[in-house]
Amino acid sequence: MIENLSKLNIVRIGNHISYSSLKEIGIKIVESFHEVIKEFTLSHYNTPTLDSIDAHLLTKILNYEYDGHTLGITDADLKTRDEDEFYNSIFGGKNPTNDVAVVSTKKLAPPQIDSEKDYKLYVERTLKVSLHEVGHNLGLTDHASYKAANGGSLCPMSRGELNKFGYIGYIKAIIDSRGLNFCDECNDFLKKIYTSFTMNI
Ligand SMILES: [Zn+2]
Ligand SMILES: [Zn+2]
Repeated sequence: MIENLSKLNIVRIGNHISYSSLKEIGIKIVESFHEVIKEFTLSHYNTPTLDSIDAHLLTKILNYEYDGHTLGITDADLKTRDEDEFYNSIFGGKNPTNDVAVVSTKKLAPPQIDSEKDYKLYVERTLKVSLHEVGHNLGLTDHASYKAANGGSLCPMSRGELNKFGYIGYIKAIIDSRGLNFCDECNDFLKKIYTSFTMNI
């Protein structure tokens, strides 16, 4: 199973992001998880245009359609059954019973995408949330505090408190402050689990 995680299926649901941007996200995921994720595939999953979708249901559909390690990126709002309204709509989530994570770009877009700069920011935020969710797929856990990685930016697994900032404040305070490098603690974990495995076979 660990071996299978080295290949990631990236699946676009909706037409919100270009294929070349998805490819850029895939390349950067491979770079950030060097030695652990070695390759990725890109696919498009056709659905009627959806305003929102149940996050758990989407992970189940993707698990059925795409076997193995999968990251779904949708522009629909991802809903959970949480009664707290702060948490019933999420940026991303992972199904603990399979290897599927999903990311919603709905709230990540700047109010309007008018320039290349806005679009770049949108892709960058999507990448950062994707790194966080794929990190969960690989067994990494959230940092409740702000953990800096090499280079000074926050580790992609930094979570912080959503309640404290609200959505827009959270994106600016946490997601935009994350870098693409994992902190030593996360890298050590990945190295211990995944590199020793490849060396032992
Ligand atoms: Zn998390
Ligand atoms: Zn970390």
